[in-house]
Amino acid sequence: TLAQDIRDAAALLASATDVTVLGHVRPDADALGSALALGRALHQRGARVRVSFGEPDEAPETLRWLDEDGLLTHPDDLPDSEALLVCVDTPVPKRLGRLAGRVELAGAVLVIDHHATNTFYGGCNVVDESAEASAILVFRILDALGVELDEPIARGIYAGIVTDTSGFRRASPETHRMAARLLEAGVDPEKVVRRIVDERPFEWLPMLSSVLREASLEPEAAQGRGFVHAVVRVDEARTVRGEEVESVIDVVRSVREAAVAAVLKQDVTNPAQWQISLRSIGIDVSAVAAEFGGGGHRQAAGCTIAGTAEEVLAGLREALERAPLL
Ligand code: 5GP
Ligand code: MN
Ligand code: MN
Repeated sequence: TLAQDIRDAAALLASATDVTVLGHVRPDADALGSALALGRALHQRGARVRVSFGEPDEAPETLRWLDEDGLLTHPDDLPDSEALLVCVDTPVPKRLGRLAGRVELAGAVLVIDHHATNTFYGGCNVVDESAEASAILVFRILDALGVELDEPIARGIYAGIVTDTSGFRRASPETHRMAARLLEAGVDPEKVVRRIVDERPFEWLPMLSSVLREASLEPEAAQGRGFVHAVVRVDEARTVRGEEVESVIDVVRSVREAAVAAVLKQDVTNPAQWQISLRSIGIDVSAVAAEFGGGGHRQAAGCTIAGTAEEVLAGLREALERAPLL
């Protein structure tokens, strides 16, 4: 059971002295907030702790301030292996990018995740697809460990929950009760949301303007319902930070006529490749992403596809025709 898995995880962490905590590639606030909250708790208990992720080399500027203890470690500076490897918000080792091989080398592996597609690749797996964020599972493990919340730990967990629930829109009563404890521990919710979600450099405006001008709505392309998409090309992506490129989907998904939204993000290091963000209200887009070797949740998924933007869109339209309805 989940309760037993949480107790097993707490026991594993209680005796840990040498721990690497990894999030998925291009980490979001759930991956990094969860990893840093857990990392700080273990660091305070006296363990040697590093937090890392496979790409890019630097954490997004919007998330770096969650690292109160300087635990973030460049992948090249990690030891060859560790006694305990903890993977958060990562359904399959492949999502660790160049760090995937560490799963085989570590003394023990603990997986903490909320993706339905998780393959239980750890020796201990705290996996619950009904959790709205991996941070919720980290919170429950910290409770089982008897960790006293301080503001930085609570901030990391709050960051994961507030982003993965789209600002508590998809949060259960129990998750709101958890959030209340995080605020009591000192989290400033306005500051967290402002720094991670709302605040953008000025360059975001011209980039967004250029991208949205070319956005397109196909009224019937998603099994008779609307499909809206936009394309961020390298010359546009290069004018801003990665965070700003990632935020485009949040604007595009607001189109009322669309059941499915996609943003095609051209890879700045390999322009023949596109990272695709998918959001949906009526169709299982994790099935669409899975057709291209990606994954995610039914309403929010992603994948990487090679080709021209037109070829990528044609592939997505075909996959959308086959995807299960929600
Ligand atoms: P985003 O559009 O924010 O990059 O990703 C949305 C969701 O899809 C997240 O849950 C993310 O973890 C997942 N996702 C994005 N890209 C990939 C991918 O290439 N492979 C897998 N397995 N999941 C992805
Ligand atoms: Mn994530
Ligand atoms: Mn998550």
